[in-house]
Amino acid sequence: MSFEIADRDLMARIGRFETKSGVVETPLLLPVINPNVKTVLPKTLEEKFGCRALITNAYITEKSFKETASEKGLHDFLNFNGSIMTDSGAYQLLIYKDIETSPEEIVHFQEKIDTDIATILDIPTGWGVSKEYARYTVNETIKRAKKLEKMKTRDDIAWVGPVQGGQYLDLVAKSAKEMAKLPFQIHALGSPTPVMEQYKFDLLVDMIVTAKMNLPASRPLHLFGAGHPFMFSLAVALGCDLFDSAAYALFARQDRYMTESGTTRLDELEYFPCSCQVCSKTDPKTVKALPKEDRQKLLAEHNLHVSFCELRQIKQAITEGRLWEHLEMRAHSHPALLQAAKKVRKYSEYLEKQSPITKRNGIFFFSSVGLARPQVVRYRKRLADRYSPPPKAKILLLLPQTRTKPFHNSKEHEMVKKEIQQSLGATADLVHVCTYSAPFGVVPAELDDIYPLSQNEIAFPFDAETVMYVAQQAANYIMNTNYDHVILLRDPKVWRGKIAAACRRACEKRQVPFTTLRERDPWAKNTIEHLTAVTRKALMQP
Ligand SMILES: [Zn+2]
Repeated sequence: MSFEIADRDLMARIGRFETKSGVVETPLLLPVINPNVKTVLPKTLEEKFGCRALITNAYITEKSFKETASEKGLHDFLNFNGSIMTDSGAYQLLIYKDIETSPEEIVHFQEKIDTDIATILDIPTGWGVSKEYARYTVNETIKRAKKLEKMKTRDDIAWVGPVQGGQYLDLVAKSAKEMAKLPFQIHALGSPTPVMEQYKFDLLVDMIVTAKMNLPASRPLHLFGAGHPFMFSLAVALGCDLFDSAAYALFARQDRYMTESGTTRLDELEYFPCSCQVCSKTDPKTVKALPKEDRQKLLAEHNLHVSFCELRQIKQAITEGRLWEHLEMRAHSHPALLQAAKKVRKYSEYLEKQSPITKRNGIFFFSSVGLARPQVVRYRKRLADRYSPPPKAKILLLLPQTRTKPFHNSKEHEMVKKEIQQSLGATADLVHVCTYSAPFGVVPAELDDIYPLSQNEIAFPFDAETVMYVAQQAANYIMNTNYDHVILLRDPKVWRGKIAAACRRACEKRQVPFTTLRERDPWAKNTIEHLTAVTRKALMQP
């Protein structure tokens, strides 16, 4: 039951998890099979979708098919050869409050039907409950989890240790910490379904990251009830490895058609925006005219196709190191998702620590949402912790960024350097040229071709938050270094005076002279001559 990680990006992993019925690759989507209502048959999942794993409910199976399932075993009973995960019935507990089984019974039943991945009978926290009740669900779940070792009789089944706590993050942390101490092979974050139904994806970010911070990275994390493809990339980026989808069938029952960016009602569709096996062979008008059962089946199959397709896109993005770009694209499907993507910034330092450094491809910045990216955080930390300006440098000359990268190769910066060289001769060495630029902040000329400082593209004009971030980085740089004088060449159209204001404040604090040029065009010949004159004057000051 090993979990091997093959590739990583952000906190996402492509992993291989071994069960007694075979190895499955994560991130993995397990379609939910209700043994009472098989909208899509397990055999169809296996043959048509190449599906290697599914999830079913142990409680419903016990209640309705106890003898057959026990006799045949789950694989024969469902007619499925891949890995089968069973949920304990906790969700039914959440809905119907009291269910007719016990923690022991559900453990033994899951062993008896020969499931591959089993779940203890936890108590879901749910939504909108008091903190007191939430604490009870956490404590009771931990108590039951501790008893598992004594209850179970087999060692070839992977057990899931659910993390509860709901919206109470301190309880989520406690629950995860306690579960982490127990010998589970998988963890699952409980109760996100109501959170997702209400589109509280930003709270989901808090819940996932809190759980991840307190769980061992070596065990896969399942996100219970998160079956919509439009939020997979966010959850995967934060380290969720397994998902289950009942949504593909539930949505189909309500004539709802999933896409990777949302949900549409069948009767609103003139065209199918998809080329899956279902959509490429028919059209909405034909499907609308079908009897309900046939219609449901086709919609469920499409919903599954689009869900699996999104996961494949996510995996490809992980291998290319482009999961962030993918996540941002999906985040723009819905304001609630964008709000969640913005929330990631709160955890950007943690994300940076957990993200691999190996991927070296160019990165795209669309807006301030991208300031949470590990590359931005990593550069900020390294500049502060590891960098010192050249020992000779007396004057900091801050130039605005150019469209050409690396900046020191741009004709604009070449022009400035040439003027200064000619005017100052040997003393030009005392002037240290740096660029202030989005999204990284201050970039010393000698570093600006190092990854990713030149290997990125950014959309102009910058939004206000990005401008403020760069201004703050410029101020931090001045505070952390020892130049005798700071000279700033402004680019008012891009930076709206914010960099100058931040640098002035920092220089006042450090009590060093600050000079800025107010010319409109930073790269006009007379601006550069003026800049050179100012620099020479600064050098002559004692
Ligand atoms: Zn389709």
